[in-house]
Amino acid sequence: MGTLAAVGVEQLTGNLYRVLHGRFQAYLWHDDDGVTLVDTGPADSGAEIAVALDEIGLAPTDVRRVVLTHFHDDHVGAAAEIREWGDVEVVAHAADAPIIRGEIPGRPPNLTDNERAIYAQVAADLPPAPPVKVDCEVADGDVLDVGGGAHVIAVPGHTDGSIALHLPAHRLLLTGDAVAEYLGRIVLGVFNLDAQRAVESMRRLAELDVDIACFGHGEPALNGAGERLRQSVLERDD
Ligand SMILES: [Zn+2]
Ligand SMILES: [Zn+2]
Repeated sequence: MGTLAAVGVEQLTGNLYRVLHGRFQAYLWHDDDGVTLVDTGPADSGAEIAVALDEIGLAPTDVRRVVLTHFHDDHVGAAAEIREWGDVEVVAHAADAPIIRGEIPGRPPNLTDNERAIYAQVAADLPPAPPVKVDCEVADGDVLDVGGGAHVIAVPGHTDGSIALHLPAHRLLLTGDAVAEYLGRIVLGVFNLDAQRAVESMRRLAELDVDIACFGHGEPALNGAGERLRQSVLERDD
């Protein structure tokens, strides 16, 4: 893959864009009746997302919905700001919603030895996400009116309320941090609360028949994603 611009917007398919902000990213889905953001990047990402919208001929007031894949600060950070842009519905799984609303603290991940040093670096300069109202709490099997139907898949493990979105009509999967791409490989997400549950969730995602998969971190898989996910699961020894 080519080098990433630190900031910018990249069109992935007819309706799907990736918004890059430093080492973080969010996804933007454009339907005729408005925009759905999947995650928001960290707390200072609102302006970048507004610029991205402008670059593709849209405006902040076109945003209808923000789907938060889980409570982590690098995904929820700009949600409170974006919710103020207009008639914006914030969507999250019921298990992570109280954390996103700031009612209870999120539990820190159970780091492996390999993760400990990286996490200290990553977490150090990440601003805490301002609390935001969750307008719509979802559960496994719910279908959102996005892209002809976005199926919510509960993928606990990274956090208790982690979700993925499956858009069957577009053969697309957005995994949040349940899965990641790293150095060309599709891998289990890192910094998990419960790694074993995370593996089970990844196995479930690998059963889906999709072409495209977009991850919370790393390069999207723009073809053969389902097959690559299955291969990645097979190569695990747990
Ligand atoms: Zn995360
Ligand atoms: Zn993340």
